[in-house]
Amino acid sequence: MSSSPLLGELIEALRVLPGVGAKSAQRMALHLLERDRDGARRLARKLEEAAERIGNCSRCRTFSEEPVCALCRNPQRDPEHLCVVETPVDQLAVEQATGFRGLYFVLLGRLSPLDGLGPKQLGLEQLAQRLHSGEVKELIVATNPTVEGEATAHYLAQLARDAGVRASRIAHGVPLGGELEFIDRGTLAHAFGTRHDL
Ligand SMILES: [Zn+2]
Repeated sequence: MSSSPLLGELIEALRVLPGVGAKSAQRMALHLLERDRDGARRLARKLEEAAERIGNCSRCRTFSEEPVCALCRNPQRDPEHLCVVETPVDQLAVEQATGFRGLYFVLLGRLSPLDGLGPKQLGLEQLAQRLHSGEVKELIVATNPTVEGEATAHYLAQLARDAGVRASRIAHGVPLGGELEFIDRGTLAHAFGTRHDL
């Protein structure tokens, strides 16, 4: 790569992407230069624009160019039901799969002290204030069923209790159409442990 120091720098820059090592970065750089310079220019513009303009919604923390995102501004949404998710992608999944009409709070992570993610980084002070405002009647905790997601859920439940707000946790367990013998033990144990009345 000594003929073009710039190419070397591009390859190095591409390695900021998660999961991209030296080899893939090299492939991407060569592909863009050999076959898709327009794509490269578009990518560069969009990266620049996104990095400059996308901030966080001051209500729900999701990514937004506006100070308050469109969903939070929508007067049709019911502010009494607040659903907490880990990421904007999780928010989209809930939005698309369920008829949920309430509002969201996006943690942009989950409690993970080893990664330096504590209550402050997840905006939980802001969430606590919102719970204490009296607007929210139910906090629906939709963090992932991982060890950290569960720990986060417990923390959130405590926040809700402190504010006198009802907290609920989405159910995890046996997938629809699944058969018990094929389900991993952890999932089945969890489903069994969180069974509900019929
Ligand atoms: Zn918002």
